[in-house]
Amino acid sequence: MSSNSNYSFFQSVEKSFDKASKFTNWDLGILEQIKACNSVYQMRFPVKMDNGKIEVIEAYRVQHSQHKSPCKGGIRFSDEVNQDEVMALASLMTYKCAIVNVPFGGGKGGIKINPRNYSTYELEKITRRYTAELVKKNFIGPGIDVPAPDYGTGPREMAWIVDTYASLKPGEIDAAGCVTGKPVTQGGVRGRTEATGLGVFFGIREVCNMEDVMKKLGLTTGVQGKSVVVQGLGNVGYHSAKFFREAGAKIVALAEFEGAIYCAEGLNEDEVFQHRKKTGSILNFPGAQNLAKNSDALELECDILIPAALENVINGENAPRIKAKIIGEAANGPCTPEADEVFAQKGILCVPDMYLNAGGVTVSYFEWLKNLSHVRYGRMEKRFTENLNTRILGQIEELTNKRVEDKERAFIMHGPEEQDLVHSGLEETMISATREIMQIWKDNPSIPDMRTAAYVSAINKVATSYLELGIFP
Ligand code: GLU
Repeated sequence: MSSNSNYSFFQSVEKSFDKASKFTNWDLGILEQIKACNSVYQMRFPVKMDNGKIEVIEAYRVQHSQHKSPCKGGIRFSDEVNQDEVMALASLMTYKCAIVNVPFGGGKGGIKINPRNYSTYELEKITRRYTAELVKKNFIGPGIDVPAPDYGTGPREMAWIVDTYASLKPGEIDAAGCVTGKPVTQGGVRGRTEATGLGVFFGIREVCNMEDVMKKLGLTTGVQGKSVVVQGLGNVGYHSAKFFREAGAKIVALAEFEGAIYCAEGLNEDEVFQHRKKTGSILNFPGAQNLAKNSDALELECDILIPAALENVINGENAPRIKAKIIGEAANGPCTPEADEVFAQKGILCVPDMYLNAGGVTVSYFEWLKNLSHVRYGRMEKRFTENLNTRILGQIEELTNKRVEDKERAFIMHGPEEQDLVHSGLEETMISATREIMQIWKDNPSIPDMRTAAYVSAINKVATSYLELGIFP
């Protein structure tokens, strides 16, 4: 249970679910089934550390829903991992996938370790043993349950997982699809690394392009010129900041464990990242002002606040001091239900996690499809499209007697590569999901906030799917 909330994380997900289910007409039994975590696997296994001592590792994998197969969701390595947290995160995955029309059930895994306290070799042993435990219980596989990176894990861990899985399942032709977020050389897809951050950007950009929504918040439309605060400079925070900056927004503050920095003229996330790598801290960045506590960054005056670290950072205690007009939940569960109530009163628009950070799982879906089809995106059509575009352009130039300038020519001729297709699939996914949720909210103005509208979207889709399965005749 978080010290900052009256509820455990799982209870707070249930609370948001219940709040939304009132705006649907589904049978109570179906709602109960959707809410429940179907399978919870708690394990303990021994690992011999570099010093020769044996440590018992506590780990989990939760499959929240099998209304679609496989289950999908990341694995986190953190001291804070516990069953309640993994259950909550697995539930969010079910709703997240439903909202963005990714045909998976929700799952999540966790290993209760602080990865900083272990050598690379120890981490490899832990990850491989965890994978073997999942195989033993049939809790992993391209058609069963497909893990991915989450807090504290990345492509390296995913490579260990796929290698362990493949060696325990010789001849399984689709073995590469047992996990996503792999390095590109190991069956990963180009565009996965930046996917969550880019999805956050696409989602918020779409919201910022909605004239009526911006008018209500007293903001102009578009991302250009907006002030943005990002909490967390991990993969998601870093890429969110990058895409906002590139679109003309100003990153006025960045926060990490050790503190936060502020610069009204705008920060460059990569320069700050390099500074942190060099000095071990985000603080004392040239030209920026240090903030006493990292949480101070959350309370700064800004247009958009992006919490991109862990859950429960904005709660009933600090929510009244939040001055942002839009909160983009890049992390999973950064705002508690109490915070939501404060936002509703203050007219702050909170763009909810389980849809806004769905870029990661959306591109995981593309990676999984690539693994099952055994072909790189763009391989079949790139050259064909380039040849065709050359012909079309040639005809236009001949008919008009004008020549298209070189830069434009290169752009028009370019046939799609894997990353182009992945980014475009993600853009389409995020734009449609944003519009769908906003439409639900508009159609029923008594829905109090965007999170509830997103839950309504998820509940409707999962319930329909259960009914189509014929589980509830
Ligand atoms: N860990 C990410 C999330 O929470 C990605 C999950 C996935 O790709 O399966 O959405």
